[in-house]
Amino acid sequence: MVKYVFITGGVLSSVGKGIMTSSIGKMLQVRGCRVSTVKIDPYVNVDAGTMNPYMHGEVFVTDDGGETDLDLGHYERFLDINLPKFNNITTGQVYASVIEKERKGEYLGQCVQIIPHVTDEVKRRIRTAAKMAGCDVLLVEIGGTVGDIEGLPFLEAARQLKLEEAPGDALFVHVALVPILNATKEQKSKPCQHSVQEMRRIGIQPDIIVARCRYPLEEDVKRKISLFGSVPIEAVFTSYDAENIYQVPQNLDMQGMGDYVSKRLGICSEKADWAGWKGIVEKFTGPRRVVRIAMCGKYTKLEDSYVSITEALHHAAAQVGVKTELDWIEATRFERDPSEVKVLDDYDGIMVLPGFGARGTEGKIMAINYARTKNRPFLGICFGFQLAVVEFARNVLGLTGANTTEVDPSTQHPVIDLLPEQKSIGMMGGTMRLGGYKVILKDGSLANKLYGVKEVIERHRHRYEVNPKYWESFQKAGLVFSGHSEDMRRVEFLELPSHPFFLGTQSHPEFRSRPGNPSPPYYGFIEASAKVQKRN
Ligand code: GLN
Repeated sequence: MVKYVFITGGVLSSVGKGIMTSSIGKMLQVRGCRVSTVKIDPYVNVDAGTMNPYMHGEVFVTDDGGETDLDLGHYERFLDINLPKFNNITTGQVYASVIEKERKGEYLGQCVQIIPHVTDEVKRRIRTAAKMAGCDVLLVEIGGTVGDIEGLPFLEAARQLKLEEAPGDALFVHVALVPILNATKEQKSKPCQHSVQEMRRIGIQPDIIVARCRYPLEEDVKRKISLFGSVPIEAVFTSYDAENIYQVPQNLDMQGMGDYVSKRLGICSEKADWAGWKGIVEKFTGPRRVVRIAMCGKYTKLEDSYVSITEALHHAAAQVGVKTELDWIEATRFERDPSEVKVLDDYDGIMVLPGFGARGTEGKIMAINYARTKNRPFLGICFGFQLAVVEFARNVLGLTGANTTEVDPSTQHPVIDLLPEQKSIGMMGGTMRLGGYKVILKDGSLANKLYGVKEVIERHRHRYEVNPKYWESFQKAGLVFSGHSEDMRRVEFLELPSHPFFLGTQSHPEFRSRPGNPSPPYYGFIEASAKVQKRN
């Protein structure tokens, strides 16, 4: 029998529900429970794939090719599980199903309404996710903030689900901000109280309240939240700022949250065994030598745009025994003033980030040229890989004006071009080459050495690829294509043997990186960058 934990948020968005959901999962996992997670996103898009990462944060790609919310990335990293795309439920998907059923005549005679038809579809999806995972506990994070109109049908569905399950089989955990006033340094509980009231107004009494606060809650503030939130004082916890996100599960467990949740659900009687996780987390904290990385991209104003990449770099750094300092560099800056490229000299490694469209590409190509000619460790991911091909074409092969047809459709030298199967695609949503595909690595190459095996699976999200017409010229000039798709029709990795560390990949290895088990390309990149610094 599956138990359900719903996680809701109050006061403001980005209050840390994703980390909270992951942390509850971890607390149950270390007690021997099988957990899985679902993220509900109340927006009308069918998936996150058609949204600008600058608005919404990174698009996280699952093994089965879903373009999902970045919180699925947190769940996968904290819980070391691979989630299917089904576990990201959106308003768009729910309505698409309901409308399809209506057209098929499955509701014949009825007036189709939010309650019960939409809420039934939400509950069906939640229960199916639990069944597919075969888990003991399904954690369901409801995105947005209580009070949002869009979120209401989902909260209503959750309320009904709790009613339908056996008593005690579903719990509500409400996470709300407790701000600290600058002037008086006081922790203010009123916004949190109001958000609990908002929950009750729609018929949900939280079972547990977690205050998101810079510091642990003071006793009297905790008491107030317990009294006005109508939960026992032992059900009030604080998710306080941590040096590293991976410490949050233990910070909560030390307050008794893991025991409380398992007691309330009547499961996981095993004693918590933190040994494995603790060993991983320790590597992320304490003083370590700093390695500076230049992150060249387009959506650099919002760190969430690249959260899997920053996490993959942190995983790698923790394993190498250093700490990364990431500087976000808008590539357009080099286009405005080419002499600015010399700022890259201050960095131990240079990354060129994934992306779409023309803006900033010339600047990224300048950064790649700098890394290649100055022997600076370089890692190019997806668009960064494609632009490394463009840079090499222009400056080594002498193909003036070489480009990707994404940026210049009429280029004389389309070294990066649309995948053949992409040429006839008109619908934009969910039609890229998406998800996990096998990559065959060339014997003895850097990629092969880093992975330690010949075949790997990495996730993908692209429409363009290295044009096969140019493969031979590149390889003759010394660029090694060290990874291919299984059918040998696509280039997946490139490297330069004459360079200390120059690696690019069409794939997104960051999506499979885990704390304690970093992605090999990221590990190699940080290790090489750390060596640069030693030499300086
Ligand atoms: N825009 C490129 C493509 O579609 C790269 C995509 C990416 O970096 N994820 O192929």
